[in-house]
Amino acid sequence: MPPAGTAPEAAAVLLAFLNTRGHGTHRDRLSDAEDAGRALGDLLQSRAEVSESQLKRLRKLRSTVVDVVSAGHETADAAWASLNRQTSQISLGATFGAAGSATIRQTGGDPLIGTITIALERLMADGKWNRLRLCANERCGEAFYDSTRSNTQRWHSYGRCGNKSNVAAYRARTTASA
Ligand SMILES: [Zn+2]
Repeated sequence: MPPAGTAPEAAAVLLAFLNTRGHGTHRDRLSDAEDAGRALGDLLQSRAEVSESQLKRLRKLRSTVVDVVSAGHETADAAWASLNRQTSQISLGATFGAAGSATIRQTGGDPLIGTITIALERLMADGKWNRLRLCANERCGEAFYDSTRSNTQRWHSYGRCGNKSNVAAYRARTTASA
């Protein structure tokens, strides 16, 4: 069993994708094709150019994945349906090998949508989907993978967001009781 502290590769792909969002002090990295090409460089199989229509599809997919993640993984029927519609635009196949190995691979459609779809499937199949979360600091919202044993991490970084949130909550309480 891998140590609890290791985020699987599928999670890393999804985090790179979700964290192209404009949040905190970051601007949206899927707003123009050139920046998106750089931001998604690691996810691209080749250094293909990202077209405007592709960007539009990617922004929509990203917003849907954010919806399913932030809805607590249980109550987002409309978002799941939307995700199914978007990911059905690609084709997948499987490669079977020795010793019962099987790898899902893309056979058609947008390669970036395919990469995200396969990462989603892999994380869910591994039972790790509920470890993908958005930072509880509303001004941050960065996506992170919770690798704690208790699976209760709320902030992407306790030092950067946890302390601030605690201070804000403390101030709100003391102001309310004053
Ligand atoms: Zn944060």
